[in-house]
Amino acid sequence: MNAAVSPLDHADTPSAIAHYINGARREQHDGPHSPVYNPATGVQTGTLPLGDAELVNEAVSAASAAFPAWSQTPPIRRARILFKFRQLVEDNADKLAAQLTAEHGKTHSDALGEVTRGLEVIEFACGIPHLLKGEVTENVGAQIDAWSVRQPLGVVAGITPFNFPAMVPLWMFPIAIACGNCFVLKPSERDPSASLLLADWLAEAGLPPGVFNVVHGDKVAVDAILAHPEIQAVSFVGSTAIARYIYETGCRFGKRVQALGGAKNHMVVMPDADLDQAADALMGAGYGSAGERCMAISVAVAVGDATADALIEKLAPQVRALKIGPGDGEVDMGPLITRAHRDKVRGYVDLGVAEGAELVVDGRDHVVAGCEDGFFLGGCLFDRVQPAMRIYREEIFGPVLCLLRVQNYEEALALINAHEYGNGVALFTRDGDAARNFVQRVQVGMVGINVPIPVPNAFHSFGGWKASLFGDHHVYGPEGVRFYTRLKAVTARWPTSIRAGAQFVMPTGG
Ligand code: NAD
Repeated sequence: MNAAVSPLDHADTPSAIAHYINGARREQHDGPHSPVYNPATGVQTGTLPLGDAELVNEAVSAASAAFPAWSQTPPIRRARILFKFRQLVEDNADKLAAQLTAEHGKTHSDALGEVTRGLEVIEFACGIPHLLKGEVTENVGAQIDAWSVRQPLGVVAGITPFNFPAMVPLWMFPIAIACGNCFVLKPSERDPSASLLLADWLAEAGLPPGVFNVVHGDKVAVDAILAHPEIQAVSFVGSTAIARYIYETGCRFGKRVQALGGAKNHMVVMPDADLDQAADALMGAGYGSAGERCMAISVAVAVGDATADALIEKLAPQVRALKIGPGDGEVDMGPLITRAHRDKVRGYVDLGVAEGAELVVDGRDHVVAGCEDGFFLGGCLFDRVQPAMRIYREEIFGPVLCLLRVQNYEEALALINAHEYGNGVALFTRDGDAARNFVQRVQVGMVGINVPIPVPNAFHSFGGWKASLFGDHHVYGPEGVRFYTRLKAVTARWPTSIRAGAQFVMPTGG
């Protein structure tokens, strides 16, 4: 047990969760509410108000009112506030991680990793004075200079998923507000409380009221965001069906949209790979965070039957030995997010058996003593999965690893390139030639060579291909700065003694 708050501590009294608008908590007593659970116990710990279009409008009004002064604040001063915010997040990392465990269920050490990944984006955003520098050309014409600058968009919104309640919002708002925008966040209704801690620390760091707002809600709030005429851009992360809807609807309302969707990430293991290393990588990437990561490896592709047999032999005992329990204990894996999601994942395991895949490890009846009402599922391992099976084609988002057997490298590559999703992928090999070929030809946005979860660092950018991302820009890093700004090109001449008279031909530099 760590010293932080146990998710079991606040089991009996569901707390009323508030919105955060114009620098203050905003209670909502009327209207629809939804329960928030501790997934380890199955007990309701919070009651979440679901905001409507009027509340979204209130948040957008606060953000619009804050925008003129915030966008005119020198970037170095905006950066100083982010420096202070960064320090507060680091100082309170344990508290934030405990909050993540309490509502999401992930282990405390995994939650700390999530916080660190978020911190890295804040650190990147602290460099905003440098990142916003434009380009200048002297003398594009006689005594004429030209330059281009990136300016903020105005009010922008983020709609985020349950699986990284701190990190995914942190992918978005530090860069958005560093660029001079004001932000409205609509967090996941499953684990909304982390967003309020972040709001408090932003205020403590000196962020003016209205620059960052949180509106809780479901489809009603999301639709109000998509239709709101003052919101210029929407960043979304979640499942593919909703990502497609957000992209299509947001674009129809004239907004800039980046919408990241689901995934089915493959890890190819070549016969020459270090198979112990590969098995370790599959365990961590397949079962870490109970498989509820968009960059989780859910498919192992073994090249050759000997590779497949060796991998199954190494993996099966490790999957059976997974330590599963409440995330604040010394465990490898916590519960799934809701009872309904746990049942859906278990349904996929039933389906895999019905489809004819070989269930080598069956975690369906795993019980965690003392947490019988928690949303737990044991690790499951399938062998001899076929490309036509639904357990291969669809995102399961749970602790279920599918192994496919192929006879050669080309077959593995063709499988990946034919898949609907293209978020992350990995190749395990000792062969530089194969690795180079893979990097060049694979149709996936983020590629790992002997790295199972190739999430780019904050100074690069994150994004998948195909049904894993709709829109032109990846998130955070340099792509984040481009997404949250628009380019303005200026051509200037100051009056001089030279007078050329009216010019009726197309101006040129020469
Ligand atoms: P989700 O799509 O159910 O929810 C995401 C957000 O959309 C939430 O804020 C939710 O309130 C909202 N939403 C849900 N249904 C809606 C509807 N009908 N209309 C409008 N808004 C709606 O996703 P989730 O279950 O919270 O998260 C898991 C999914 O997110 C997985 O598919 C996972 O792969 C994906 N994900 C992708 C990435 C990535 O980077 N590509 C990262 C994290 C998670």
